[in-house]
Formats: sequence, structure tokens, C-alpha cells
Amino acid sequence: MQVSRGIAALRQEIANARSQARTIALVPTMGALHSGHASLIDAARRGIGDNDTSIAAKRPFVVVTIFVNPTQFAPHEDFSRYPRDEAGDLRACEAAGADLVFLPGVEEMYPPRTRTNIHVAQLTDTLCGPFRPGHFDGVATIVAKLFNIAQPDVAYFGRKDAQQLAVIRRMVRDLDFPIEIVGRPTVREADGLALSSRNRYLTAEQRVQALCLIRALRQAETRIRGGERDAVQITAEMREIVAHAGPSRIDYISVVDTESLQPVARIDSPVLIALAVHIGGTRLIDNITVDPRAGGG
Ligand code: AMP
Repeated sequence: MQVSRGIAALRQEIANARSQARTIALVPTMGALHSGHASLIDAARRGIGDNDTSIAAKRPFVVVTIFVNPTQFAPHEDFSRYPRDEAGDLRACEAAGADLVFLPGVEEMYPPRTRTNIHVAQLTDTLCGPFRPGHFDGVATIVAKLFNIAQPDVAYFGRKDAQQLAVIRRMVRDLDFPIEIVGRPTVREADGLALSSRNRYLTAEQRVQALCLIRALRQAETRIRGGERDAVQITAEMREIVAHAGPSRIDYISVVDTESLQPVARIDSPVLIALAVHIGGTRLIDNITVDPRAGGG
């Protein structure tokens, strides 16, 4: 497995892989890697396309990027204490089958006098958007930069960050990036907690409290399967479950359209049920998609 820290070096390695007719697959991350990230690397290595299709991948050359992107953190957020573990991450990348890891410094990605920012409208007005002003601009901009630097054929993202995935899909269509975006299922602990680098912040007691997110989501799914169609009723029941666990704050509990991410009143078509909850000082998000006419996910 190769490691590059500079853009020029990365481009050279990717050019070499391309000259061997290999497909370039990109997995952007912020490090502190866990099995959720490994599942993306593994899917890239196996040439899995969107919705579990197989992409006609010629021996994918899997590039994992590890960069804690300062522009997607607000000043009061956890940028400086975000977990960093370069040695552990390199081992995890190697074990999952990465060919190349890109580990740029902040100066490499944001030289002085950087002025350009990408804003994806509307999709960023709901869910996490109002609670994290500028966050999705930071995400869209860094992902666009990584796309231009690596020029991958395919890029992998987790549905755990469903709004981020929707924003990136929109940006790729709007700006004509010739890149296939693949969304992958959320990897969970045995008890249902979605894996997250931020789970490392939780104390043993908070780890138990954190189960309120998946409990609320499962309740919502069960109620929709049982015929409930009123989104206000569903979110009220979810709120009760979450509040019972004693979170320090609930940012939102929402039922939105899977495409537009706008809130729905009646659940007649596939919906994204999403929530953001602070457990102690740690902000956790989770979501599921439920199709009232068929199976959920
Ligand atoms: P992050 O390092 O948190 O920025 O995440 C990097 C990528 O891994 C993003 O596409 C995330 O959606 C994805 N990811 C994070 N947690 C999970 C998870 N539990 N299951 C699947 N993908 C995940």
C-alpha cells in the first residue's frame, strides 16, 4: 500500500494506475477509521456499484483519503479534538484492501488566499443544515477538490451521512463530474448503534444513552409498517423515546422526502427518518429509509 501526502505525488501514483487500465475508486474519510469506513473500502475493492450493482471495474485501484477538513467544522465544534490516529488508520486501510492512502496537510489542501466555496442550495436548508451553518459548503468544497485531484471513476460514501450523500449526488449532477457515486449501508454495532468516529467520545453511561437513536428509528419503522402515516405522530413518539434517555439536547427529529429532504406531513412514499441528538458533549446522527409500500432499509 502506498502513502502520498502531496497532491502532485498522488496524481503521479494515480496516473501510473490508470496506465495499467485500472479503474480509480475513491473513499473520502476524516480518519479514526472503523468498520463503517472499512465496508466502503471493501466495496470499492470489490467493484460494487450503487444499489449493489456491479460496476464494470477493471481491477479497482482504491484510493482512501484521510483529511480532517477544518472548513466543515464551526468554530465551537470539535475540529481540534477530533480523533486522529494515523498509524491505526494506515493499518485499517491496508487490512481493508486500499492501494493508496492520501494524507494531505491542511496547507496542501487550503493554501493561503483560497477563496472558492461550493454551496448546494435547498438540500442544505433542512436536517443538519440549520444546526451546522457552513458545514455542507465545507463538505461539498473538499469533496469537489478531492474529485478534481484524484479524478476517480467512482466514489464511495456511507448512508449514515444521508444528507451529505444527497448533497454530493446533487453536486455531481449539477457540476457534471464524470463520477459514479455509490451509497453504502450504515454499519452498526450488534446493539444497533451506528458506528461513528465520535462514539470514542462516549463514556460507558453515554454509550447506553446513545441507543435511544436506533430505538426511536426502529419504533418509527414499526409504526409505519403497522399503517401509521402521520409524520407528526411518528416524530412525537420518537421524541418521547429520545427524551426518556436524558440527552443534553435534541437538534431535530424529522421525517423527510428521500429526494428533496423536505419535511412531509403524510408518509405515502419513501421517507428518510433522521435525527441528531447530543449525548453529553457528543453530537450523534442516525437515519433509516422506510418505504411505506414495501420493505425498509
Ligand atoms: P467520516 O470519516 O465520518 O467523514 O466518514 C467517511 C465516510 O464513511 C462517509 O462517507 C461516511 O458516511 C462513511 N461512514 C461513517 N460511518 C459509517 C457507518 N457507520 N457505516 C457506513 N459508512 C459510514
